[in-house]
Amino acid sequence: MSAAAANGLPFVKKTCFSDDLTEKGSEFRMERERVILHSDLNSFYASVETVLHPEYEGEALAVCGSTEDRHGIVLAKSEKAKMAGVKTGMVCHEAKRLCPELIISEPHYEMYLEFSSLVRKIYAQYTDLIEPFGLDECWLDVTGSQRMFGGGELIANDIRNRVKRELGLTVSVGVSFCKSFAKLGSDMKKPDAVTVINRENFKSMLWGLPACELLFVGRATYKKLVGCGIVTIGDMAKLKKSTLEMMFGVKGRMLWAYANGCDHAPVMHKDFEFPVKSVGHGITCKADLICKEEVRPVLLELSRDIGHKLRAHKLLANGVSLGIKDKSMCYENHRCALKNSTRSPHEIAMAAYAIFEDCYMWRRPVRALTVTAINLVGDSSVAQTDLFTDYITLEKCKALDDAVDDINTRFGGKTLVPLSVRNLKKLPDNSSHETTLPGNFVY
Ligand SMILES: [Mg+2]
Repeated sequence: MSAAAANGLPFVKKTCFSDDLTEKGSEFRMERERVILHSDLNSFYASVETVLHPEYEGEALAVCGSTEDRHGIVLAKSEKAKMAGVKTGMVCHEAKRLCPELIISEPHYEMYLEFSSLVRKIYAQYTDLIEPFGLDECWLDVTGSQRMFGGGELIANDIRNRVKRELGLTVSVGVSFCKSFAKLGSDMKKPDAVTVINRENFKSMLWGLPACELLFVGRATYKKLVGCGIVTIGDMAKLKKSTLEMMFGVKGRMLWAYANGCDHAPVMHKDFEFPVKSVGHGITCKADLICKEEVRPVLLELSRDIGHKLRAHKLLANGVSLGIKDKSMCYENHRCALKNSTRSPHEIAMAAYAIFEDCYMWRRPVRALTVTAINLVGDSSVAQTDLFTDYITLEKCKALDDAVDDINTRFGGKTLVPLSVRNLKKLPDNSSHETTLPGNFVY
């Protein structure tokens, strides 16, 4: 489950990479070597809190989810807290035990959004090719900006200095000829640093790093690689492309290109919107749910937000997936296809409930739930009808859903809600927040 889901925040998942590995890419490279920066704000949440509260400067600080809503985990930490062993994802009281002088702050997402947009305004003065990767990271293609501002390293240092001077935040910037290496570069020296990775030094600088450092090598992928004796990025790069393709399909081809610096994916324009692949919403309940009668209205509440998001993006769902986390933090995920494409909160909730009834064995009470609308299509796409569905009633229900959504958009998200949702005591208060979290896709 994503960090957004874990924090009870609605999210819209978008794809964020291109798999343009055709030979055309190398022709392009011969014409003009690209200069790409990856700029990463250091300890973003904690740094913003320090700007807002100068008394935190130099202290061990952790930004933690609200303990009342049981999100009491460390979301970000300052350098000093990091040195004391505090890690992101750690439970709050454990962090406090490791570092007794730790200052704990609640997150202020609206401020993080504000600072993120201010930093992007600085980037926009150097290029309009700015592709965000979460709230605190961006790729910038400055190939065409060099005549005006100097080479990549100069631009990177300029940006680093300006962000520090104007906003009080620090960034680490990687400079390279492709996105995957620029990203690795920004991780190499932290905080407040610039790392250049070029065609001459990339093998010595990157190939010795563990393969899990590479973009999109997650825990499962890394485990499989290590199981085959492929430990470093260099090990991956030296394999045949077809070997990685055999292991991971299309993704294997992409990883091979990433490891070899053959990643030709463009940095998108700042106004480009990535196609939405799924729309989901997750909640950690204030107290565990102990029976299915308690689960049902929670699913309806989650689906209300999904219906609203699908409508805003002009999309319909052809499937639903349900993530269930139990009291002991065991997580399971199941999915089903829908008979008719829909954005009706009621239908999505019913599908999620059907999955729950079929799949959940009630070994333990339920702690968190995530509903996601999947297999999305545009709402103007043509669908095959059948003789047995009552389309007139479906149309009436859709008009009702739209009217409810209009009223809630105009007067606030909880103006018209089903009675079962209104009486829910176990829902966290901030479940309607909308934001973007670092390290995730754009939500
Ligand atoms: Mg960061």
